Amino acid sequence: HQQKIRELTKLTDDMDNLLGCTNVGTLFLDPNMSVRKFTSAVTDHFRLRDSDVGRPLDEISSRIRAPDLIDRARRVFESGAGEQFEALGGGGVALLIGVNPYRTGRGLVDGVVVTIVDIDSLKEAEQRAAALSTQNQLILDHIPAMVWYKDRMCRIVRANRAAAELTGLPISEIEGKSTEELHPAEAERYIRDDREVMKSGTPKLGIIEPVRDSEDSERWVRTDKVPLFGEDGAVNGLLAVTTDITDVKKTEDALVRTSRLLELSQRAAQQGHFTLDLRTDELHVSDEWKAALGYEPFEAQIGSTGELLAVVHAEDRPALRDAIETCRRGETARLDRTHRINAKIGGPVWVRSIGEVYEREEGVPARVVGTLTVVDDVVRAQLELERVNADLESVVRERTAELEVSKKRFERAINGAQKGVWEWVPPDEACWFADHFWEILGFRREDHPPPLLSSFHERIHPDELDMTRESLDRLAHHGGLLSVRLRLWTQDGNYRWFQLRALRDTEPGLNRVVLTGSIVDVHDEVSAREALETTKSELEARVAARTEELSANVQTLADRNEQLDQFAHVAAHDLRAPLRTIAGNAELAIMGRGPAENAQNGTTDRHLEKILAGTRRMSELIDSLSAYSRVGRADCLIDDADLDRIIEGIRADLETDLAESGGELVSGPLGVVRADPRMIAQVLRNLIANGIKFVRDKPPRVAVSRDDRDGETRIRVTDNGIGIDSQFRAAIFEPFKRLNAGSEFAGSGVGLSICRRIVERHGGEIWVESVPEGGSSFVFTLPSVVSTA
Ligand code: ADP
Repeated sequence: HQQKIRELTKLTDDMDNLLGCTNVGTLFLDPNMSVRKFTSAVTDHFRLRDSDVGRPLDEISSRIRAPDLIDRARRVFESGAGEQFEALGGGGVALLIGVNPYRTGRGLVDGVVVTIVDIDSLKEAEQRAAALSTQNQLILDHIPAMVWYKDRMCRIVRANRAAAELTGLPISEIEGKSTEELHPAEAERYIRDDREVMKSGTPKLGIIEPVRDSEDSERWVRTDKVPLFGEDGAVNGLLAVTTDITDVKKTEDALVRTSRLLELSQRAAQQGHFTLDLRTDELHVSDEWKAALGYEPFEAQIGSTGELLAVVHAEDRPALRDAIETCRRGETARLDRTHRINAKIGGPVWVRSIGEVYEREEGVPARVVGTLTVVDDVVRAQLELERVNADLESVVRERTAELEVSKKRFERAINGAQKGVWEWVPPDEACWFADHFWEILGFRREDHPPPLLSSFHERIHPDELDMTRESLDRLAHHGGLLSVRLRLWTQDGNYRWFQLRALRDTEPGLNRVVLTGSIVDVHDEVSAREALETTKSELEARVAARTEELSANVQTLADRNEQLDQFAHVAAHDLRAPLRTIAGNAELAIMGRGPAENAQNGTTDRHLEKILAGTRRMSELIDSLSAYSRVGRADCLIDDADLDRIIEGIRADLETDLAESGGELVSGPLGVVRADPRMIAQVLRNLIANGIKFVRDKPPRVAVSRDDRDGETRIRVTDNGIGIDSQFRAAIFEPFKRLNAGSEFAGSGVGLSICRRIVERHGGEIWVESVPEGGSSFVFTLPSVVSTA
């Protein structure tokens, strides 16, 4: 309201100024035609002084340039009708003088108003007035409030720019419009207020209401309405000043909402707030503070730190008291303690009190304002967590110790295994090598190469480098087991052979490939194998050479045997003729003599008899030799040989011998064998004949048996004769070898050698065994190709 008054006063001043500036002299005369008031401009034309106020105009007529002014004034006063005339002022200025009745509010004429206008400067004055009006408008337009001047009919007389902006129309269009036209929706309410103000003549201030702006959005405004009075003192309009308070209103609403939300959220979060006056120790806790601990607003009287500490858990009391004291002494501007408070039910509850010191008076802390939050679950969870953590830590410590032990064991195992163990995670350059890896290569512990893949590659023999690299790559990509031999350069300055083995694994959890491998020194083994290979091939060469030599010898031997057989045959044939001559002549010599001569020449005849016996013996030997050589030369014709028939043939041949000696020849069914029948018959005849022959003082008994086993046929000829000393068992198979004197047992000593020759030509063997009760047992084998059936 004051503001409005000030604005009106200003407007009045403006009007005074306007009158002053336009050089319109105004002179007020009372009914007695005495000077009542005049404006300064009058002095320029009539030379009036302040002391002239109250004096009759007559007395100062000499200074007034219009001599008939007094008459005119009287006339106007009486008639009530104004007059106007021109006169010359000081300096010859043309003046237009108006004389008009002065009317009071009731319409009575109470004097006269004389206006003096400098006609010359009128135009100038008009221009100034226009400028001033513009200035006024400018002032109005720059007031942020909306200003409306309305007449008695509630029509807009004047408005400023802010008002125009609200309606969205230019000022010129607003002026003259009715309230209904401008605000159709709110007109009724506005007009009601306007009428109330104009009727009562008292301002109506602080009308707060929503309006719609030109863009149809809602805005909140506060309007002050002040009645305007006309010169007659009657209300002739009103001034409405409207301020946009949308932002204030919004802020206010937000504030209300926020504090409501705060209240709700504090309740929900089991949170409350408190204020502690550090100077008076006056403590205020909010209802929420109490509610958080289960207390009703009227319960738990907590009005001081003492009363607060009484409900705090005994163990937490000293720390909280200290924290408050620290704030009180100004050492910290923040209070933050997590402590327990005895809740209404259920014992102590963990809470967190956070406060901020504010209102410092000359540096002295005044108050702490803060919140209390129930953090029971959090703290209990935290305590539980700490306990679990501690347990976990002790487990981890135990495991670490175990791990340490097993790591040591692992290292000992690796080094003890005499293997150079390594590990590589491709494609890293870094590798891990067990100490022993380098020691195998002759490094001392203090100068192991850096643990890099290249340290390993550098030492691989160029011939095996590419192969090793490719093998490791393949292993990394496809897995499997790698086992290669390669040469590595050792610190002794030599290459040695090593066996490299590696496996691919996927490290659990990390999902990356790890190659783990080892190297083992196999140099000695490789060298030994190489040496063995050399020896073996040398040996093979020698065996081949020897075999060749042997087969040549065998051939030579065969050739010689054949030659020998040939020679024996020829010799036997050629010897027979001269032998027959000798024998024939000896017989003739004996037969050509008479008995007397025979008596005289008894000695000669005995000589001739001896010659005859010698030639017979020689003839026998030649037959034997011939038979022996025949066996060598004859073809061996393999056929079915019926042994039983052969035995029957022999029995018939030897019938006389058997009968004379009273001997017997025993044989079971012997079946058939695959052999040359004639040759086999000769073998059996020789053996059986010997069995009958080499017996002393008893009738001979010869048994022939057959036994098939192990892919061969064994024929056994056993006798009860004189037997053969074990030292001669091999010799008797040599030609012409005899053990007994020719006088006791006849024979040439070729029979058994012929037997051996025949048996060997059939691929068999012949030998003699002794018989326990005396006698011999001759055995020969034949590959059994035919069964007894
Ligand atoms: P021979 O019977 O013409 O003397 P053999 O070659 O048949 O010639 O035999 C060689 C020797 O083996 C015989 O002189 C004899 O001393 C010995 N011998 C052969 N068969 C028997 C036998 N059944 N018992 C004992 N001695 C034998």
